[in-house]
Amino acid sequence: MRYLVISDIHANQTALDAVLAAAGKRWDRVVCLGDVVGYGPDPNEVVDAVLALNASTIRGNHDKASCGLTDTSDFNPVARKAAEWTQQQLTPEHLTYLKKLPQGPLQVDNLAIIHGAINDEDEYVFAPAQALEGLLESPTAICFFGHTHFQGGFSLRDSKLQVIHLRPGPESTFSAVQIEKGTRYLLNPGSVGQPRDGDPRAAFAIADMEHNVVEFWRVPYDIESVQQRMHAAGLPEPLILRLTFGR
Ligand code: ZN
Repeated sequence: MRYLVISDIHANQTALDAVLAAAGKRWDRVVCLGDVVGYGPDPNEVVDAVLALNASTIRGNHDKASCGLTDTSDFNPVARKAAEWTQQQLTPEHLTYLKKLPQGPLQVDNLAIIHGAINDEDEYVFAPAQALEGLLESPTAICFFGHTHFQGGFSLRDSKLQVIHLRPGPESTFSAVQIEKGTRYLLNPGSVGQPRDGDPRAAFAIADMEHNVVEFWRVPYDIESVQQRMHAAGLPEPLILRLTFGR
């Protein structure tokens, strides 16, 4: 089985289209790690697209805030404004869909998916010390997480924890990680719609469990067209600008 792993689409349909074009037909099933909406200009379109993909999807903090499950008191003013705008745009059906999204961890075959940390969906897992819990407590040897918008991850073998650094150059579109038996993995596909690791290209992963390989992809997309829609919607300027830099 081959899984298309997408996370943090953040209502960016143009980036999602580029991801689906690049992934082509090389997957059998889609998993989505949350933050389907929030920040971007296309919340209804992206919810429809995720539904059409029949993706196994868990909720992210922006999904919760945009459908009113949580208030936005711990959001910064820019994120709050975007969440309020998103809530106004979403159709009643899509608001209901977001409210019903399950909380991670969700097990999909031999993979587990979480949004933030394994025991706290809102925690940002950046450091090895934060990753250890997920590596040890995931119900599966491979667990995918999102939320940080940084592509990469961690592995654990014989009590040795390693950071998996991925820095595909501007000319390369993917790097592959070989999955070893007896090793546990906590892997982040990066963000489709709002990368923050310094590479503005849309990020995703393909987990090929037949060949024990996870491919981490970066694909360019038409950032300016998204920025134009954000301007037209009156979304906050810092959110528009950061897409250019992937920060
Ligand atoms: Zn996010």
